[in-house]
Order: sequence, then structure tokens, then C-alpha cells
Amino acid sequence: HYTTLIELDSLVLEAFRQYRHVGESHPPYPRILLQHTEPALIYGDADALKQALIALLDNALKYTPSTGSVALALHTHTSEQTQIACITVSDTGIGIAEEDLPHIFERFYRADHARTRDKGGSGLGLAIVQRIAEDHLGSVKVESTPGKGSQFTLCFPIADDDH
Ligand code: ATP
Repeated sequence: HYTTLIELDSLVLEAFRQYRHVGESHPPYPRILLQHTEPALIYGDADALKQALIALLDNALKYTPSTGSVALALHTHTSEQTQIACITVSDTGIGIAEEDLPHIFERFYRADHARTRDKGGSGLGLAIVQRIAEDHLGSVKVESTPGKGSQFTLCFPIADDDH
């Protein structure tokens, strides 16, 4: 498995700065907020992790009106005696219908609104995010309310000090 240590907090900060910059140079754009970060080291592939974060941020911005906001956060906690680091990407956008939720991580799946609003995209983004999460022994989950917004949570096991 991966042997390179990645500072997940640096990666989150870098993505936040990059997107804030895009927003500032292309108004109108949803507000982008960095809600919380804390130090978190994981084993992984920095390029792949960046790609996953970018896919989630791209979606959040794509499916959120410019009057809305997108928030990024990184929290660490203990789950079943394992230390994990979770990145959340939350938006106040259009949300995802309950019947679409079980399918959005499938390759080429696009909810009706995405197809009809011609927002571009291939329906591959989330399938790639899920693959990257699994490659890192992590997970990706979604909660969403149509008309209110969505929250994607990407979790990874924290690197063990003993190894
Ligand atoms: P791309 O591959 O370019 O990202 P895409 O956005 O269509 O294209 P996915 O990222 O895989 O594909 O997302 C799948 C579908 O899930 C989208 O078409 C959209 O219907 C829905 N979706 C994903 N993220 C959000 C979000 N933040 N808010 C609302 N719907 C979303």
C-alpha cells in the first residue's frame, strides 16, 4: 500500500485557496468558506487526493447558485478504535433527489436535473472519488436534501505513529 505520508490539512488549505481565487476572479460565484482544519497525516497519493477534492468542489460549485455557499472542513475523530480524518464538502445548492442518492457514485450516472440543465460533465467524477477513497482504505458518503443542499464526507485512516 501507500508509503508516502500526506499532510491532509495542507492539501485542504491548498484546494481552498485555489477555489477562493477562482471565485474572486470570476464573479458571481458561490461563497467559499473554510470552516475548520486540524493537522492530519495519512498514507496516500497526493495527486489522487487532490483530484478527489477537486471533483467534490467542482460539483458543489456546479450545483450551487451564485447566491449560495460551499464550505470545506477537515476533522479528525476516533471511530471503532481507529483514528480517522474526514473532509467535508457542503453546499447550499439544488440537492439530490432521494431516488438518485444510491446511484450517484456509479459510473456515468447523472441525475435528471444535471442532464436537463446541461451543466456539462460525464458522470464520472464521483465514481473516481469513490475509487480514490477505496484505494486509501477510506470511504465517501453523501447526505442531501433537495432544494437545501448536499454534504459529501471523505474519510481516511490516520497514519499510525508506530509504523
Ligand atoms: P463530472 O464527471 O464532470 O463531475 P457529473 O457532475 O455529472 O460530471 P458526478 O460528479 O459523478 O458527475 O456526479 C454524478 C451526479 O450526481 C451529477 O450528475 C449530479 O446529478 C449529482 N451531484 C453530484 N454532486 C452534486 C452536488 N453537490 N449537488 C447536487 N447534485 C450533485
